[in-house]
Amino acid sequence: MTRFIFITGGVVSSLGKGLSSAALGALLQARGYKVRLRKLDPYLNVDPGTMSPTQHGEVFVTDDGAETDLDLGHYERFTGVDAKQTDNVTTGRIYSEVIKRERRGDYLGATIQVIPHVTDAIKEFILADPGEADFVLVEIGGTVGDIEGLPFLEAIRQLRNELGEERTMFVHLTLLPWVPTAGELKTKPTQHSVKELLSVGIQPDLLLCRSDRSIPPNERKKIALFCNVRPERVIEALDADTIYQVPIAYHDQGYDREVCRYFDLPFEQEPSLAQWRGIVRTVRDPEGQVSIAVVGKYTGLLDAYKSLSEALTHGGLANNVRVKLEWIDSEIFEREDAVVHLENVHGILVPGGFGERGSEGKIQAARFARERRVPYFGICFGMQMAVIEATRNLVGIKDAGSTEFGPTAEPVVGLLTEWLKGNEIERRNYGSDLGGTMRLGAYIAHLDPASQIARIYGSDRISERHRHRYEVNTDYKARLEKAGMKFAGMSPDGVLPETIEIPGHPWFIGVQYHPELKSRPLQPHPLFRSFIEAAKTQSRLV
Ligand code: GLN
Repeated sequence: MTRFIFITGGVVSSLGKGLSSAALGALLQARGYKVRLRKLDPYLNVDPGTMSPTQHGEVFVTDDGAETDLDLGHYERFTGVDAKQTDNVTTGRIYSEVIKRERRGDYLGATIQVIPHVTDAIKEFILADPGEADFVLVEIGGTVGDIEGLPFLEAIRQLRNELGEERTMFVHLTLLPWVPTAGELKTKPTQHSVKELLSVGIQPDLLLCRSDRSIPPNERKKIALFCNVRPERVIEALDADTIYQVPIAYHDQGYDREVCRYFDLPFEQEPSLAQWRGIVRTVRDPEGQVSIAVVGKYTGLLDAYKSLSEALTHGGLANNVRVKLEWIDSEIFEREDAVVHLENVHGILVPGGFGERGSEGKIQAARFARERRVPYFGICFGMQMAVIEATRNLVGIKDAGSTEFGPTAEPVVGLLTEWLKGNEIERRNYGSDLGGTMRLGAYIAHLDPASQIARIYGSDRISERHRHRYEVNTDYKARLEKAGMKFAGMSPDGVLPETIEIPGHPWFIGVQYHPELKSRPLQPHPLFRSFIEAAKTQSRLV
């Protein structure tokens, strides 16, 4: 029997609902249950693919090619369960589905309304394909009280009625602010938030209260009394020094125990959290430190690079070092000398990106890394910029560029107009829609067995997730290889370059895909493990 836990948020946004849901998933798994996590996003975009990462954080891509909310990254990292297209839905997608059905005539003369048609479509999504899951955790994006969120709240209210208390639980995440002048943790915003939920017919079964200090017994009682929740189900969620501490802290507060109790499941046996404790130990007390410069464009909002910074941390865990990230806006290099900023770092990473702004700075960072023999990791756009740099400065074609930035005489990087997806050919041109039309999701690549990257993976056949519209143009391959840049990985049909490296350089690798999306704390990605290892070696040199 699949049970559904609905997680809403109140008082303010950014309380870490995604991480919190992921941590509960990990705890239930540690108790031997199978979990799936889903996210309902109230915004009107069909998916976050067309949103700037500085607005909504990174776009997380699944194996099956969905562009999803970054919270799905937390879910995957904490539970190891691969997310799917069917695990993230937005108001935009729900409405386009309902309108499509209406146009087809599926509703047979009915007047289409939010209740029941939109709420039915939401419920369908929540209930679809639970697989073997004992628990489906459903996070509702936004904050209670948002207009956009109402149909979602209504849908979960209906589900409680339809599935019963035995199969549904409402968890509400709130904030207890500390007011220094009163010397008190304030419960009123939580009370109001619960009232707001009650007004749409939802009585939370458990409250998860974020706060920067322990909740005194009196305040706990007060919350329980006013919010109609048992005192032991008012769970304290203290700020943690590392995200890996969150499942442990929740467990210590009895969160998973109360969830099991609620569903009448055995709760006496302790779950095994040894792996999480091990990670926390390494994070708190590593043997050393390396510093990595991340030269990108969206450095103003670090959520834009969430999976990347996590994957770098995982690489650090695998090497028992702390990874200190220096976020550098690539445009700086267009005004100032790169040397000043990069001289003392132990590795340089140019991540994924879009558009011309800042690209020359990234090219300079790649040049610095190549010439100064500093470990370089180019991801997607970062690989494309490294190839343009090598074409300009190793092959000697000064006009080398990318058609992403407009017409160019030397299109070393060009629009991907045709590629194989399974047995089908996908076609695009300059006039195609921008939403959902990139080369997306998992594709196989073949690696030259004699390459550095094949050694790192321990395999010559890999599957990695993609999200790009442009590709390195193989017309330049022979000249680049002659000049010292090896095309080590190619698509199985040999048409699309997937990885490049510079033999003889300590660590210079570019990949057209996004390895950071598949790295997990309990299984660091081989490329991040190896990159940080190279940075560790570099740290002994500088
Ligand atoms: N803008 C580049 C492209 O579309 C790179 C994309 C990326 O880095 N994800 O190909």
